[in-house]
Amino acid sequence: MPSIEKLISAARKKRQTDDKINIVFKAYSFAEKIHQNQKRKSGEPYFNHCFETALTLANWGLDSEVISAGLLHDTVEDGSCSFDKIKKEFGEDIAFLVDGVTKLGHFKYREKTDKKEEVKTLAENFKKLILALSEDIRVILIKLADRLHNMKTLRALPPNKQKRIALETYEIYASLAYRLGMMNLAGELEDLAFPYLYEKEYAWLLQNVPEKYEERVSFLSRLKPIIESELVKNNIEIREISFRAKRYSSLYKKLKRYEMNFDQIHDLVAFRIIVETIEDCYKTLGAIHHLWPPLPGRIKDYIALPKPNGYQSLHTTVFCADNKVTEFQIRTEQMNEEAELGIAAHWAYSENKDTKSYAKKLASMADRKELVWIKQLREWQEHFEESGDKFINSLKVDFFKDRIFSVTPKGDVIDLPVGATPVDFAYRIHSELGHETIGAKVNGRIVPLDKNLQSGDVVEILRQKGKSPSRDWLKFVKTSMARDHIGNEIRKKSVISKFIWNKK
Ligand code: MN
Repeated sequence: MPSIEKLISAARKKRQTDDKINIVFKAYSFAEKIHQNQKRKSGEPYFNHCFETALTLANWGLDSEVISAGLLHDTVEDGSCSFDKIKKEFGEDIAFLVDGVTKLGHFKYREKTDKKEEVKTLAENFKKLILALSEDIRVILIKLADRLHNMKTLRALPPNKQKRIALETYEIYASLAYRLGMMNLAGELEDLAFPYLYEKEYAWLLQNVPEKYEERVSFLSRLKPIIESELVKNNIEIREISFRAKRYSSLYKKLKRYEMNFDQIHDLVAFRIIVETIEDCYKTLGAIHHLWPPLPGRIKDYIALPKPNGYQSLHTTVFCADNKVTEFQIRTEQMNEEAELGIAAHWAYSENKDTKSYAKKLASMADRKELVWIKQLREWQEHFEESGDKFINSLKVDFFKDRIFSVTPKGDVIDLPVGATPVDFAYRIHSELGHETIGAKVNGRIVPLDKNLQSGDVVEILRQKGKSPSRDWLKFVKTSMARDHIGNEIRKKSVISKFIWNKK
């Protein structure tokens, strides 16, 4: 049930100082009044949805203005309120956020027409989404909180809408959350969408997993005191030792890779150990390995080499008692917060330092991987002229699909879609480098240019000045960025050669 006290205390818990908290009270009663006679499809009062959206934003540590905009986000779209009214009552900033969310909201409820029309609409909505992302990230955070609650209440909608919204959530919003480093949200959205998209598989998991979960939890509970005393012996300050059950959607993906064999899943339930400092993380890793031997090749140092989305943690898998294999994740509190909240956590942190204006705050975060990604997305969209399904497909492949991260000889991480080749790699660094590529070395060895790169590959491009790209590359490149550059360059060169030929 909505309660202003609950909302305010959630907001206060994450940020003690926020001089604008009064505006949340005002937004609360304003939105409650606008929606007072409206019901959701489920029959519950419409305002519940606005409240839940705002509560999520408060739990992410966002400020009063964003929480207020969350409360107000449907007042213009579904209510009987005008943009000017919001602006008069709540000021420019909140009105801008509400307006941004309203504009994005249009496409969700558009009914299907013929297929071509649908694709065009989808493409246009992607463009809106990208624009909103690069203009004001807070609009997207509100949209994600809104979508989270819509997914939680999806049962109330007719089946064809359930499927469509679940698919959109799975493919777009969950990926977007992942790219923004909001791992918890990404997993939650996927899990909420999963039963609608994989009905049978979900039923199968429900039947087979809970018992296995329980079995694992009781096994890990017996190990917990052993770990605690070992860490204490090593003078490590423990903040928390907890179990983390693998989510159904990601469990299913993994099971499929192992022919549905549970014995191959070592992280069905994993330990998560949170300690004070980075030094303690490594000390903990040592202590665990002192207790139980690690599985070769399964120690991952994402502190020294973070994942492309910024994720940091130490992972290891060890042979525990009875030769049961168990995974550990070790990290500091800040890493944990960032792993779960991603850009929202950075946003909240940077606000505590006195970066008041949006532009200033954004500038202070400009190197963040999430923001670099948004910038790339924006640039890509600007030079992509077509807006049919080619647009959507390459958007999905280039920006939302599973990623690998390869490394330059200098150690810079280059983030590419699965299946990318050295040519994609070269074009991602610079179009000139792409054009002048004549060969590539992966981990020190010469490879063919159509080789599929793997995560962790160190890639060195061999170039020759003045060289032109080959038409054959179009057969294997994966990114549309590379494809476009190659196509343009070939066209340009052929126009020039024709021109020279004509002059003779
Ligand atoms: Mn909404």
